[in-house]
Amino acid sequence: MSTATIIDGKKFSATLRGRIAEEVTRLKNDHNLTPGLAVVLVGEDPASQVYVRSKGKQTLEAGMNSYEHKMPAETTQEELLAKVEELNNDPAVHGILVQLPVPDHIDDHAIINAIDPNKDVDGFHVINSGRLATGARGASAPMIPCTPLGSIMLLKDHLGDLSGKTAVVVGRSNIVGKPMAQLLLQESCTVTIAHSRTKDLADVVRQADIVVAAVGRPEMVKGDWIKPGATVIDVGINRIEVDGKNKLVGDVATAEAMEHAGAITPVPGGVGPMTIACLLANTLTAASRQNGLEEPN
Ligand code: NDP
Repeated sequence: MSTATIIDGKKFSATLRGRIAEEVTRLKNDHNLTPGLAVVLVGEDPASQVYVRSKGKQTLEAGMNSYEHKMPAETTQEELLAKVEELNNDPAVHGILVQLPVPDHIDDHAIINAIDPNKDVDGFHVINSGRLATGARGASAPMIPCTPLGSIMLLKDHLGDLSGKTAVVVGRSNIVGKPMAQLLLQESCTVTIAHSRTKDLADVVRQADIVVAAVGRPEMVKGDWIKPGATVIDVGINRIEVDGKNKLVGDVATAEAMEHAGAITPVPGGVGPMTIACLLANTLTAASRQNGLEEPN
């Protein structure tokens, strides 16, 4: 018998994108400003091509300008750095995203840290990580990585005040696990970060009122790891084959977890759609900040 409430990220993200589109119209009408997002894709990775197409489409749907820069797989690090520099200096571009992964011969840290931190809508620049970790506010508030930002929005919408709750984040990557933990800490949760060397992971997860799974292992978090009534955010996107057909599953065994959780995000339709919506939100924030305008809520 399933009991958990489904946290509908598809619906939430559609509402968020609607609000962003309204705000873009206001910026155009009142300030003659159209936010612009530049996405750089190096190489022909099929999954990256799908993501980039989808980002471009949703950027245009929100009324923003979308600039796609496709570069061949042989592009050198210097050439990519020159492209980033060109976009840093382009006033029509308010947000820059270099689609990861880049080919092995390019140092992704060097590329990310070459992006103007105020245009770093992925929030991966070391200055933005530092601003997030130190709780910087106002003019020096960080650009927050999109997937954790979308996840915390869903949590706050579902639970309201998160203060005092016990949260376990499984995964410590720079793009999901660590910034997610920072956001939960900012909401005054008691936060544990688990990873591949964590001992007795099931027992650690069982302590949590909030579980965020960002591991990249299909259905690894089992139903009986979930404390009764806990809220589960499944960040994982894993393609597996079932009966010869491709299927998308998360990092949580959803059907089992629903027997224990109070609420859970589905895969697909949970965190996934929030990521692009938050990319658009960050682009809007970046455009407003760069023009000295009040930031949208
Ligand atoms: P990474 O591979 O960078 O990080 C995975 C983390 O999981 C690591 O910290 C690793 O630990 C930990 N881990 C691996 N195996 C285990 C294990 N057996 N027990 C406990 N911890 C383990 O992945 P990402 O953070 O980039 O992505 C995580 C998942 O989220 C993936 O499924 C990815 O597809 C998905 N994702 C979804 C997005 C969305 O839009 N919804 C966006 C980005 C990612 P260690 O550090 O010790 O190696």
